[in-house]
Amino acid sequence: MAEKMKPAVFLDRDGTINEDTGYLSDPKEVRLLPGSAEAVKRLNRASIKVVVVSNQSGVGRGYFTDSDLSSVNKRLKELLKKEGAAVDGLYYCPHHPDDNCGCRKPNTGLTSKAALEHGIDLARSYVVGDKVSDIELAKNAGAKGILVLTGDGIKEKGRLIRPADFVAKDLSEAVRWIMEDLKGARR
Ligand SMILES: [Mg+2]
Ligand SMILES: [Zn+2]
Repeated sequence: MAEKMKPAVFLDRDGTINEDTGYLSDPKEVRLLPGSAEAVKRLNRASIKVVVVSNQSGVGRGYFTDSDLSSVNKRLKELLKKEGAAVDGLYYCPHHPDDNCGCRKPNTGLTSKAALEHGIDLARSYVVGDKVSDIELAKNAGAKGILVLTGDGIKEKGRLIRPADFVAKDLSEAVRWIMEDLKGARR
């Protein structure tokens, strides 16, 4: 292997990093959840890759365009940057659920692509999100799954198919747990 593969933290977008306003398509409506930029910054400082993986079926449903989505993602990155935080990658599935694509979470298309492009060791990685599909993605990808109780998290907690490795009140607590877990995994 040319380069040693590294663990990454995959983050859901809506309801995990920013407020989930439902099919978010207006950059002016992007609002970071409290503490989320700080949490991303902590991962940045520890040189742990941060990759956003997001289902954006609003494109496939015709609710908004790819260009609207780009504007929202750009705004999200701007808001994070203002607080000194950055994401290493951002991958999304634009398809309609009926398309049966391989990239809509909990399918692993997005994490596999990111793993190839960034040299990520999925077995030592984490997925953080507010939905059952995020935890299922973690399990399907062979990573650990952390459910956050922001966004739809409280509602989704009772619907989990396979248990989460940790349930955190928000992204900040999730990242704290991940950093501890990574320490424990280090030989
Ligand atoms: Mg979400
Ligand atoms: Zn897709």
